[in-house]
Amino acid sequence: MSTSRAISLNRLRLSKHAGLTAPPDARAILKAVFGYAAFRGPQADIVDHVVSGGDCLVLMPTGGGKSVCYQIPALMRVGTGVVVSPLIALMQDQVAALLEAGVRAAFLNSTLSNADAAAVERALITGELDLVYVAPERLTTPRFMQLLGQLSNAGKLALFAIDEAHCVAQWGHDFRPEYIQLSILHERFPQVPRIALTATADQQTREEIITRLGLDGARTFIASFDRPNIRYRIVEKANAKAQLLAFLQAEHTHDAGIIYCLSRRKVEETAAWLAGEGFNALAYHAGMDSATRTRHQARFLREEGIIMVATIAFGMGIDKPDVRFVAHLDLPKSIEGYYQETGRAGRDGAPADAWMAYGLADVVNHRRMIEASEANDQFKRVAGAKLDALLGLCEATACRRVRLLGYFGEASGSCGNCDICLEPPDVWDGTLAAKKALSCAFRCGQRFGAGHLIDVLLGNETQRVIQWGHRELSTFGIGKEHEKKQWQAVYRQLVAQGLLTVDHAGYGALQLTEASRGVLTGGQTVHLRTAQEKRRTRSTSKSSSAATTLDGAAHERWERLRTWRAAIAKEHGVPAYVVFHDATLAELARECPSTVDALSRISGVGARKLERYGDDLLAVMRA
Ligand code: ADP
Ligand code: ZN
Repeated sequence: MSTSRAISLNRLRLSKHAGLTAPPDARAILKAVFGYAAFRGPQADIVDHVVSGGDCLVLMPTGGGKSVCYQIPALMRVGTGVVVSPLIALMQDQVAALLEAGVRAAFLNSTLSNADAAAVERALITGELDLVYVAPERLTTPRFMQLLGQLSNAGKLALFAIDEAHCVAQWGHDFRPEYIQLSILHERFPQVPRIALTATADQQTREEIITRLGLDGARTFIASFDRPNIRYRIVEKANAKAQLLAFLQAEHTHDAGIIYCLSRRKVEETAAWLAGEGFNALAYHAGMDSATRTRHQARFLREEGIIMVATIAFGMGIDKPDVRFVAHLDLPKSIEGYYQETGRAGRDGAPADAWMAYGLADVVNHRRMIEASEANDQFKRVAGAKLDALLGLCEATACRRVRLLGYFGEASGSCGNCDICLEPPDVWDGTLAAKKALSCAFRCGQRFGAGHLIDVLLGNETQRVIQWGHRELSTFGIGKEHEKKQWQAVYRQLVAQGLLTVDHAGYGALQLTEASRGVLTGGQTVHLRTAQEKRRTRSTSKSSSAATTLDGAAHERWERLRTWRAAIAKEHGVPAYVVFHDATLAELARECPSTVDALSRISGVGARKLERYGDDLLAVMRA
């Protein structure tokens, strides 16, 4: 066990138990153990509430800082905090990080041998653990229940934390039947406070958690779902590969990231192509054999700078804090999906990018998939509406974050950290163009996709135009004032604005809607964004990696720190971020502390790490 590692902490605890001084306050523990100067958002209130024995439900986005909400109360209350977590990899990393910080923690799950599990149970009984992470199926076994009973009788249960609490929701995609059983905790140990945590915020899930876990009297804490360090960018798809490559080369040459594609084939092609371009890219999708999948996931977690090219099968429970970008080569299904997938970037709070390339073909594709699905009409309507909301985000002419948060019912102001805030698009009065585009679709019998319609507008005498007699249409050649690129943007935006829909049979034919009439005959104006190509000359954005704001000397320190961290991580058999997060390394590189005292003021350097690595760090600074 790690008893000997818990020096600084024991000193804090000792003072409490010996009654020598006032009990250590939560802030002091936050600084001493985790190295952070202040609580974020509702963390302080949550900690107070749980320390004083209250139940609660915590809704906080990924990366919001849920863990300290139960870790600190577990350290402050008498006995051990029991954490239920469904994700084995996540449990191991959490425990590794706690041990690094000097907290006495262990986990119990199926990866342990019987002997190791027995050792953890013994440590639990003898009060040598501050926190124990348990898989839900193990927690509810009679054996473990008996063990908890023993602890409870001795007054040694500090709290129950139920992580990923949305797993209890029966209709959610993460449903875990074992989670339903967790109501037993309340029935058997009503005096032990419970804290349920989730990043899934919708009302329905929230209510289900409360009912199923018997949390009726519990307080609910809701943090902002904003992820301020994520920079949102959505670009028009022209040559997606070239665009992606330019993005990666300019901003993320050595960073870990995730690239989402819709199909398995595209995942494999993209991974192979990126590897050929010199990136450390791996593929991940549900069609791969599980050994390869596991290997790729493990490499992504343990090694630095790996790019995972994946379908959405990848990501659930991926707790890697230093994912510097999430790129979408294909459109997700909904804003919920976009938020969740992009949310895997930048959990450590350092700058990160959410980058997406999208085009009309994506929309056509999604509509086709919705239509072709076996689902009933009600479902198809909902799916269509969700897609529309996402298109609205893609074609937004004002702050993307405002729109994103607004979708979840949260009001906010322009963020200054999305492409639109940074480079407001030119908006033009596209009414005339819209009229031409709509009437061309109408004249062509609403049976053609954008490509053909644009040929007609431009007066291109293609074989198809001739064959269908479209040279004779009144709309033939009436759109020569714009280039093809611009017309593509017009059609895409008309679809996004609901002024055209994509043919249900799924051939991508564009058809008029009820709303089109208002434009064609009703004098309604249409505002459109200028196609992006026109304004490519302005620099897009500066690189967002944690290290990019560092100048020469600081950058050298950053590189030295990374090398040092990699060696320590290897020696301890843990991922690099368990030793220190990128954000901490970047601050170290920038500030270049030269004394132990200055070191201790760096965010993320707690007492235990100071003691362990202080000399090393000062040496790296001096080198
Ligand atoms: P969640 O579980 O909500 O996704 P974590 O608990 O993993 O988030 O925390 C996300 C990151 O934020 C971690 O790197 C954590 O150490 C850091 N963090 C949490 N609370 C604070 C705080 N008060 N100040 C600075 N960093 C914090
Ligand atoms: Zn913005």
